[in-house]
Amino acid sequence: MIGRCRSVVLTGLTGHVVEVEAHVARGLPAFTIVGLPDASLAEAKDRVRAAVASSGVEWPRHRITVNLSPASLPKSGPGTDLAIAVAVLAAAGTVDALRARDLLLLGELGLDGRVRPVRGVLPAVAAAVAAGCTRVVVPAGNAAEATLVAGARVEGAVALATVLGSLGADAQAESLEEVPAPAVAATRSDPPDLAEVRGQPVARRALEVAAAGGHHLLMVGPPGAGKTMLAERLPGILPALGDEEAVRVTAVHSLAGAFDAAAGLIRRPPFEAPHHTASAAAIVGGGAGLARPGAVSLAHAGVLFLDEAPEFPSRVLDTLRQPLERGEIVLHRAHGATRYPARFQLVLAANPCPCGMFVGTGEGCTCTPLVRRRYLARLSGPLLDRVDIRVAVGAAARADEPGEGTEAVAARVAEARAAARARLAPEGWSVAAEASGPWLRRVTSRAACAGLWRAVDRGALTARGFDRSLRLAWTLCDLDGSGSPAVHHVAEALALRQGEGA
Ligand SMILES: [Zn+2]
Repeated sequence: MIGRCRSVVLTGLTGHVVEVEAHVARGLPAFTIVGLPDASLAEAKDRVRAAVASSGVEWPRHRITVNLSPASLPKSGPGTDLAIAVAVLAAAGTVDALRARDLLLLGELGLDGRVRPVRGVLPAVAAAVAAGCTRVVVPAGNAAEATLVAGARVEGAVALATVLGSLGADAQAESLEEVPAPAVAATRSDPPDLAEVRGQPVARRALEVAAAGGHHLLMVGPPGAGKTMLAERLPGILPALGDEEAVRVTAVHSLAGAFDAAAGLIRRPPFEAPHHTASAAAIVGGGAGLARPGAVSLAHAGVLFLDEAPEFPSRVLDTLRQPLERGEIVLHRAHGATRYPARFQLVLAANPCPCGMFVGTGEGCTCTPLVRRRYLARLSGPLLDRVDIRVAVGAAARADEPGEGTEAVAARVAEARAAARARLAPEGWSVAAEASGPWLRRVTSRAACAGLWRAVDRGALTARGFDRSLRLAWTLCDLDGSGSPAVHHVAEALALRQGEGA
């Protein structure tokens, strides 16, 4: 006899509906799973058998073959346990095979018969619904997450026995407790308010310009100047995520197991701040088995903040080039490549020197000039080439008044972004930071460009720096509602790149 049901496997964020087919034949008792199973699928055999026994259902003493198709698809992780159990028992005639065929099941089985939560339920259920499978059974601990997918009819399963019972089996549905989804370290809250940043007019302006034009930002200043405080407030002045982006961002966080489903879809641009001692896998993604998304992907559509950026290993900084260029990261695995989105706004913070005291006259700094030069030079090259804004952040004065709040700044950013979008959309761009150099030079007036050419002639600006300043000038003009950059916009753009060459 043959039993069938469906499940989903993920490669990266992409869910594929798989047909789980079980065949029970006469012969010596055996249990084989075919269809490119990896090591964790082999372990599934033991889990499935134990869970069925714990549910008070007899395991068929026959030759059982389970096939997961399409066979060409690499399959990973324990998410297909529940489907395998149902397909086998449908083939054995223990459960109603016709009703099982309509089901799509996700979940790992515990040896005690409980259904354990799995990662990535949101993208998996989204793929199921897109393929027309709207009736989904998921672990009870993931039910809140699965219901975030529009169009899904979700059933949360605490134990295998309940699922089998609902399909007509005579299973012992003992009162087992639900296995909760893993606790999330950080609960979601609104980003902190910009009003809490006192003084710092230059840095505040830089943050607003960065938000309006999608520009990457470097802040250099002594410890305690408030660089982290400023960076943490960038997501608050960025526009909220649209529906499609919110699902995508939530899916990445679901896959990383770092998401609180009770709070709904992630609507704020995320903020990720990996420490410089974090492993390369934690930052770019990877790890054994299922390749997990790293900080660059968790920061997708939001902000990646590297505090003390020169302290990061250069090989980690180098890996940021791919996502900065392509907006995604490709992780190469034994079974092929896994892609994750990784289009983030980069904010780098650095002390002016290793001891952090080289400010103003440099009094109190114990670093030699050579050590100082080498310190910031660790950031130079292709990475810094992509950072449009470089500002010095001085120590904050205590007497400074509280600044303007997040709401007012976010409103200006939204207006500037709308103006930029209207101009750039025909070219396929949405923010100034994406615009190409040749196009910008074509559409900018000769008078506005003249100031930049003079800076190039003086040797104060490189050709790349020219284009980057031009992008900034357009964002500045969007912020004050002008139609095209004037000379004073260009002058301010140059000031926002004062780190040039330093
Ligand atoms: Zn120093």
